[in-house]
Amino acid sequence: MGTSCAYGASPCVRLSHRSHLARRARLLLVFSLLLTATSLDAAAQTVRIGVFGLFKPRRLTLTTANSAVLVAHAGPKALVMDPTAHSSTLSISVAGSQVVVTSPEFTSQAPSLLVTGRGGTPADFILAVPGKLRRRFSGTLLIEADQDGLRAVVEMDLESAVASVVEAESLPGATMEARKAQAVVARSYFAAGTGGHQGFDFCDTTHCQFLRERPAPDTPSSLAARATRGLVLAYDGRPFPAMYSSRCGGRTRTLAELGMPVRSYPYYAVDCEYCRTHALEWSASVSAEDAARLSRRTETERLEVTRKLGWSGVPSNRYTVSLQPGYAVLSGMGIGHGLGLCQHGAAALAQAGASFSTILAHYYPNTSILAIDSRSLVRSH
Ligand SMILES: [Zn+2]
Ligand SMILES: [Zn+2]
Repeated sequence: MGTSCAYGASPCVRLSHRSHLARRARLLLVFSLLLTATSLDAAAQTVRIGVFGLFKPRRLTLTTANSAVLVAHAGPKALVMDPTAHSSTLSISVAGSQVVVTSPEFTSQAPSLLVTGRGGTPADFILAVPGKLRRRFSGTLLIEADQDGLRAVVEMDLESAVASVVEAESLPGATMEARKAQAVVARSYFAAGTGGHQGFDFCDTTHCQFLRERPAPDTPSSLAARATRGLVLAYDGRPFPAMYSSRCGGRTRTLAELGMPVRSYPYYAVDCEYCRTHALEWSASVSAEDAARLSRRTETERLEVTRKLGWSGVPSNRYTVSLQPGYAVLSGMGIGHGLGLCQHGAAALAQAGASFSTILAHYYPNTSILAIDSRSLVRSH
């Protein structure tokens, strides 16, 4: 480990021991954040998640989720959706660059639809792609038209988003310490990362982090998020967007191995006993052209080919190549890019009794866990 305060029994904040001035400046910053904490608005603790984008929806329905009132603002018109008094469902469609909102007693066409609780507060609601899926969210909802149809963005509390990712990403039966490790890396990704999207911060697919509904408060995923509230992974004193993948194939990878630029944490190749002893093998046939494209073994090339062939096209970057006339057979191991935490390996370590901090120390050498007030997480857009 590169730092004495990394992964102690309790989270620590790394302060430079070389500079009293730096320490003083940081203490002043913490002090000023404490002073201003009560005046910070909710936006500083929230993430904007683009949902259902995979479906490119042209029609959505919005329903009240409980007895709470929703207020739907469409242009100059506002509809109060009171489940005890009126219809509690809105139909939303797209017409050119306009969002069309209809219910039995309301119709409006506007550039956007904003849905909140009374007074602009967050609220629970159910959003659905008719005939495909429906999910319950908590937060505020903004729907706009874009080139693919309707763009739905839920602005939700950071910790709710973390619990939702833990629930969606954890293996069935994963124990509490594995879920806590997942919570810290998910929070780090939200806190320090950027999804590279227009109009929102992160999507709800594995492009960013897989996210479905917020789990109930007493479920293991919610408890894991709560137990690690505000904890993020830091390298050189700064949170970084921690990457993770499903099965590393026996040894994790570095950014350099995958031909990816090193902007902060370089990642390390570490042994993963579970994957080494429980190999998940795969084979794939690719065209000679795709085999040539894969020759440099970079993650960019693998994703290019995978995008063309489908997500299981080339499951990982750990494979051997057997050239055949006109095509190539790839024989590989593992699923995913292999950077950082290996979810199967982490689940096995937790099952064997490792704590979440031990798991994180194993998959992210030379990092520390930073206790950071989620109100102070600032992301540049
Ligand atoms: Zn994304
Ligand atoms: Zn592994």
